[in-house]
Formats: sequence, structure tokens, C-alpha cells
Amino acid sequence: MAPIQQAGDAEKYDYDLIVIGGGSGGLACAKEAASYGKRVIVFDYVEPSPRGSKWGIGGTCVNVGCIPKKLMHQAALLGEAIRHAKAFGWELVEPNTSDLDEVKCNWSKLIAAIQNHIKSVNWTTKVSLRTNNVKYENAQARFENEHTIIGRTKEGSEFKIRGDNIVIAVGLRPIYPDFPGALEFCITSDDIFSLKEAPGKTVIIGAGYIGLECGGFLNKLGFDVSIMIRSVPLRGFDQQMASLVVKEMEENGVKFLFKCIPHSVTKQSNGKLLVRWRYVTAEENDIEAYKEEEFDTVLLAVGRQSLADEIALREVGVHYNLRNKKIFSENEQTNVPNIYAVGDVLEGKPELTPVAIQAGKLLASRLFNNTKKLMDYDNVATTVFTPLEYGCVGLSEETAVKRFGEENIEVYHTYYKPTEFFIPGKNNGNCYLKVICMRELPRIILGIHFVGPNAGEVIQGYAAAVKAGITYDTLENTVGIHPTVSEEFTRLSVTKRSGLDPHPPTCCS
Ligand code: FAD
Ligand code: NDP
Repeated sequence: MAPIQQAGDAEKYDYDLIVIGGGSGGLACAKEAASYGKRVIVFDYVEPSPRGSKWGIGGTCVNVGCIPKKLMHQAALLGEAIRHAKAFGWELVEPNTSDLDEVKCNWSKLIAAIQNHIKSVNWTTKVSLRTNNVKYENAQARFENEHTIIGRTKEGSEFKIRGDNIVIAVGLRPIYPDFPGALEFCITSDDIFSLKEAPGKTVIIGAGYIGLECGGFLNKLGFDVSIMIRSVPLRGFDQQMASLVVKEMEENGVKFLFKCIPHSVTKQSNGKLLVRWRYVTAEENDIEAYKEEEFDTVLLAVGRQSLADEIALREVGVHYNLRNKKIFSENEQTNVPNIYAVGDVLEGKPELTPVAIQAGKLLASRLFNNTKKLMDYDNVATTVFTPLEYGCVGLSEETAVKRFGEENIEVYHTYYKPTEFFIPGKNNGNCYLKVICMRELPRIILGIHFVGPNAGEVIQGYAAAVKAGITYDTLENTVGIHPTVSEEFTRLSVTKRSGLDPHPPTCCS
């Protein structure tokens, strides 16, 4: 860690801190540093996507990530709620809503509402930088040397500034796989939230967070959706839970192309996109193994990579992973002592907004406020916002078994029936949760997993409990709040080892 600023440095440098990237991590770090009276500048610049999508300050989360995604998710859930309202006695009398099965979402209106919200956040972000005394430059930054940054404006003019400390917070951008037509005809999550025309019949390539979330909301908004999976869904997550998410989506009409990889996308004379793919296990020259189908939209969700080359990292000597261009660091410090990195751009760290924010704040506090607190990347909770959400914290069952041995862990599990699902007859077959703990006293909980409504809200509190070292006995001693879905955690009694049926008999037993 670089020493606290020395006397005389102020004259040598234009700024105490230069932050490259005005997203979740960069903005948090900049504002925290400025709160200690430091001279701080943030560069933020968005390179338009190959389809021409661009956006304002705030980074991925605000513009093309968490926020528009959550709004689409909400739109999707509302559509379902409108249909279910009938069962609860609602009489929707507008002429075009008398048949609730025919309720349609107007894509242009949805996009306009989402984009308006984003613009308001862009504006308040700029205002908040000003009130926090952080200088903002809408320019693309790259290193000249370890203390000098070259800024390039939209118009192409260049300028230099010198900083004592530099934080790289440039985040990631979607990867375009190397198959014919990918770059020319496909879109990514950078485009979907501002797409002018409704996407129509869509195939999504990739089944990580982004693939499943986009597939989930597009399906619920009424589009024909297929998802191509080359290995497993949600790799790295508990696979039993991931399979419930997939099952629920399949039961709602999403088509999964299992064990398939894309071969090419070509544009047809009718304007449609012809997608060709084959089974992963098949030989490339096995004609029989290929399939093809026309789609209106092909959405790539095959992961994200950093823009390390664009900021001249190699030239300045910062070590990074040549495969995904992510930066190696120890406690957010790179191998070049005055250069730091936070957020998605860090190798081996979760790509999540709250992680970037917390790491950015703590780093600024260590640099400028003489604190020692390090970012703790363990037990970070997360949620996959598919229509039926999946939230979790801690270890998957697979990892717990691998780390401690099957004989040393206990898995408590149950299916459950959310009260609100009964009247509209909503499928509750995939509402399931499990708690993985050590078998030995004091039965420390290793992982908590939940598929069901509002999983994000449910898991957040349990995340604090897991951080505090919660045991199964404490959970068992906790009195639930009835009738909630979260209370199911306090009623767990069936272990997988027992072989007993984990299905509940009735609502309130
Ligand atoms: P970013 O927010 O990406 O910010 C980096 C900024 O740097 C960008 O504005 C970029 O344009 C700018 N930049 C890049 N290069 C330069 C340069 N040379 N000069 C100047 N500026 C530059 N996380 C969650 O926690 N919950 C979610 O629900 C969630 N949903 C997501 C949904 C989608 C579709 C996606 C794509 C991501 C989602 N994420 C979610 C992840 C979350 O958005 C990221 O973890 C978070 O934005 C990372 O913050 P960051 O500061 O590292 O980078
Ligand atoms: P992921 O790495 O999670 O998933 C990528 C998917 O694409 C995997 O299914 C992968 O398959 C597949 N894939 C990769 N390369 C190819 C290829 N060449 N051909 C076909 N399929 C391929 O990336 P995402 O883009 O979905 O998400 C990026 C990150 O963004 C996440 O890790 C997450 O941290 C963050 N995020 C968070 C969200 C949240 O908090 N709710 C929501 C959305 C994103 P395989 O498994 O075989 O490699």
C-alpha cells in the first residue's frame, strides 16, 4: 500500500487521486477520497457498442446492468400480476384489458420509461460529483506513465494530467464470440435496454446470470425465447438450485438448447437472422449435428472482458490476465505501487455492484484516512433475477462437499408453498430452499440457497447472519414471521441424509 501523501506531493501532481471509470466502484472511491479533502478527478467515457448503443455517467449498473434489468424484471412480474389479479377479484374494465390473457406490454413505452429513469440518475450523479468536489471529465483515459494520464475527448483532442495515486475502475464489456455474424448481427446486454424495436423471437447465447435474466424477462414480456447452453446453467452456482431455475423457465415456455454452441448467424432476405448451431459433443464436420432456425434477435451473453489494452496497461507495466484482461492485485493494489484497481476489472473477484462500491470506499479510506480495513470478498450474497428468483450466500452444496466431505456436512431442505401462489394457482413446484451446515457442533452454516419470490430481499438478511457465523441451532431457535416465504428457513427439519420427503403437507403445519 502506498504511503499516506507526503508534503511536497501536492506541487508535483495535479490531483491526489485520478480515477479511470465513473461506474459503481470508481464513483464510490472518488467521493470517499474527496470527503477527506483530497483533490480528485474521475474520467468516464463510454465507447459505443458495435450496434451504436451509448450512455451517460454511472457505469454498467446504472445504464446497462442492474437498474434497467431490475426494471425489466419488475415489468415482467407486473404482467404476471395483472393476469393473476383476476383470480383475486379484480375486474379490469378497460376495453383492451377485458381479456387478461391478451394483456400486452408496449415495448417502446417500457424502453422510454426505463431510459428516462436512467437519464435522471445520470444527471443526479453529475450533480453529486459536483457537490462532493470531484472533478468529472467525460474523456477516455489511458496511461502515459504511472503518474500521467492522457485524456481524449469525444472531439478527439488530448490533454495530460498527473496524479499521485491512480485507481482503475473501467469495468467490463460484453465479449463477442468468434463466429461468423456475431459482431455484425448480434446484440448484447449493452443494447437490449435501449432497443428501439421490440426484440421479437429471440435466441440468447449463454446461460450465466445475464442469459437467464434476459431470457426470463423477455419470456414474461411475451416474446418467444430460446437459450443456448454449452455446458451447465449458472456455472459456479449450486447446480440443484440452477436446475430448478431452468425447470421453472422451461415450464413457462422458454426453450433451452442444451449442450449446443453457435456456428454462425446470417441475415436472410426477409430480414430475419438465420442461426446455425451444433451439439458440443459432435464433430465439426458431422452435418447431422447441425440445426438452424430463424430468429428476430440474437442476444450474446457469453461473459465480459476488461478494456485493459485500451488504457495502455501493458505499457505502464501493470500485470493482468492476458485471457480476460483482468487485473491482478493484492488488496486492490497492482504490482505498480501507486496504481490500484477496484470492481469488475479485478481478477478473481465477484462482478457485482455492491462489491465494487465497498472495495472502492475502503480503498480510498485506506489511502487517505489512514484506516486498515480490507475488503472481505467472502460470503458475498447474490441473486439471479429470473422471474422466480434465486438468491444465495456462502457455499454451494458441491463446494461444501468438496471442501469438507459429504460425511461432515448436513443439508436441510424443503419445498414450500408461498401463500400468494394459491389463489391464482401459480406453479409452486420449484419453490425450494436449503441450508448447508457442518454436522459437528456448533453446526456452523456454510451456505443458504433460496428459489422463490423476492429471493433477493429474503437472502440479504441471512447474508448478515452468515457473516456473523450463524449456526443451524440459532436458525432453529429463530421464530418466523408468518405468513412469509422467508420463515421457511426457521422451520427446516428434514435433512437430505434422512431421505424423508421434503414437500410440505399444508400451509401452516
Ligand atoms: P462499471 O460500472 O462497468 O464502470 C466502469 C466505467 O468505466 C464505465 O462507465 C466505462 O464506460 C468507463 N470506462 C471504461 N474505460 C474507460 C476509459 N479508458 N476512460 C474513461 N472511462 C472508461 N450487479 C449486481 O450487483 N446486481 C445486479 O443485479 C447486476 N445486474 C447486472 C446486469 C447486467 C446486464 C450486467 C451487465 C451487469 C450486472 N451487474 C449486477 C454487475 C454490475 O453492473 C457490475 O458489477 C458493476 O457495474 C461493476 O462496477 P465497476 O465500477 O467495476 O464498473
Ligand atoms: P457468465 O460468465 O456468468 O456466463 C457466461 C455464459 O456464456 C456461460 O453460460 C458460458 O458457458 C457461456 N459461454 C461463454 N463463452 C461461450 C461461447 N463461446 N459460446 C457459447 N456459450 C458461451 O457471464 P454473464 O455475461 O452472464 O455475466 C457476467 C457477470 O455479470 C456475472 O458473473 C455477474 O457477476 C454479473 N451479473 C450479475 C447479475 C446479478 O447480480 N443479478 C446479473 C447479471 C450479471 P460455460 O459455463 O460453459 O462457460
